[in-house]
Amino acid sequence: MTEQTTDVEKRSDRSPVPSGWTYAPAPESTDIVELQDRYGLFIGGQWVPAKEHFTTVAPRDESPLAEVGQAGPEDVARAVAAAREAFADWSRLDPSQRAKYLFRIARILAERSREFAVLESLNGGKPIKESRDVDLPLASAHFFYYAGWADKLEYAFPNRRPKPVGVAGQIIPWNFPLLMLAWKIAPALAAGNTVVLKPAETTPLTALLFADVLRQAELPPGVVNIVTGDGSTGAALVDSDVDKIAFTGSTEVGKAIQRRVAGTGKKLTLELGGKAANILFDDAALDQAVEGIINGIYFNQGHVCCAGSRLFVQESIYEPAIEKLKRRMATLRVGDPLDKNTDVGAINSREQLSRIEELVQAGKDEGAEIYQPPCRLPEKGYWFAPTVFTNVAQSYRIAQEEIFGPVLSVLTFRTPEEAVDKANNTPYGLSAGVWTEKGSRILWMAQRLRAGVVWANTFNRFDPTSPFGGYKESGFGREGGLHGLEPYLTFDGAETFGG
Ligand code: NDP
Repeated sequence: MTEQTTDVEKRSDRSPVPSGWTYAPAPESTDIVELQDRYGLFIGGQWVPAKEHFTTVAPRDESPLAEVGQAGPEDVARAVAAAREAFADWSRLDPSQRAKYLFRIARILAERSREFAVLESLNGGKPIKESRDVDLPLASAHFFYYAGWADKLEYAFPNRRPKPVGVAGQIIPWNFPLLMLAWKIAPALAAGNTVVLKPAETTPLTALLFADVLRQAELPPGVVNIVTGDGSTGAALVDSDVDKIAFTGSTEVGKAIQRRVAGTGKKLTLELGGKAANILFDDAALDQAVEGIINGIYFNQGHVCCAGSRLFVQESIYEPAIEKLKRRMATLRVGDPLDKNTDVGAINSREQLSRIEELVQAGKDEGAEIYQPPCRLPEKGYWFAPTVFTNVAQSYRIAQEEIFGPVLSVLTFRTPEEAVDKANNTPYGLSAGVWTEKGSRILWMAQRLRAGVVWANTFNRFDPTSPFGGYKESGFGREGGLHGLEPYLTFDGAETFGG
């Protein structure tokens, strides 16, 4: 008789091997996306030709997708002037009419979500199931949510006489291109401001497609202007005649912007980097926690400012936790972002890949132990295998610096006090996660963690009603919820800046 293994025996197999299952390819078709060869700048409701262009590529295979305009300071000034002109009517429009435009945008985004999801994955490298199930529904939900506030600002801020700020310059990163656009544009418009938006150099295409949504929604010209380009375009926007800057990106650039804006009277919000602690107590539901830890760091290839990139495990469960984590990592499917089975897609750019490689090398050099599950990475494009480091000291670069890639650093603790001390031992303060069955411990931890968002028994949960933002070098100001409206308003009759 041949020896049969039971299902229970198979499940209790402890070695961290990948499952034997193979998945047939399930690629999403790109036919739904119609790309132009060359894009101009979207200013005053028109496509304005740019003098120079750069090529935007697909990170999955480095193939060129389109030529995109490089806006110079004159283009930025023209966009700001268009926004200023549009502000006069837009800010005086009956707020219920402003709400109608936002509802329309929300609905059109939902209707065209497949097209946007495919384009987002193509240009950014993130798995289609994430852009389809997370980025697009959330982007649409932000417009729906803020549409609801547009005619209720007096009730949102009672006795404070809210007024729009004016023209908002908004600079967004490449990790959630459309979602960051929605986080920024929706509250700005609901509050009666007009906007000049600068998408990231590597991921401009969904913002450019969004211009077509604005056309469909018949948004008045100049209310939203989109200027593409590199960092110099962002810098020109910071220096331009705007009333407010809203920036999401690296702490380094955020600090530079803060210096430029100081003394100008421009309002400023900064959403910067993070090095979140995910804290696992020995009474947590371990399988559920492992899912959350995996999601916390490998979601969007770890290109997430609030990624749970430091895992703190209580010493008493260190071994089973790491074993389960490695087994789960071995089942992650890395590959074509447009394949519906893919869990981990392509790294966004060559520069970002080099940065990840440099920090991973530093981790090895400093003495941490690396584990990467066996996985075959495509030959073309930018790829990095899901990685976990154990044996990490708090002083290592991989425990201190934001890697912004699929790399997890594991540390240990014994007591809740020690977990708090270690979790807070970072210049950042954006997010944290706590895994425990004890409600009182969740509250105790949440009060002590210096993080703008603390998730309990979950991670990376977003909702338009919930404010998001950081402490310390993770920035200031909040996006989402009522708090997200405040930076786009002045109160008690305070004059708007710059016009
Ligand atoms: P940056 O901060 O450089 O980019 C963010 C945005 O700012 C982009 O639109 C960028 O344009 C623009 N920008 C760049 N330089 C300037 C400037 N001097 N003035 C005004 N705007 C500017 O981030 P990177 O894309 O270079 O990423 C580097 C690191 O930043 C990552 O490794 C990660 O650690 C962190 N990061 C954090 C994010 C977050 O959500 N907190 C998001 C993205 C990055 P362009 O794209 O054209 O350079």
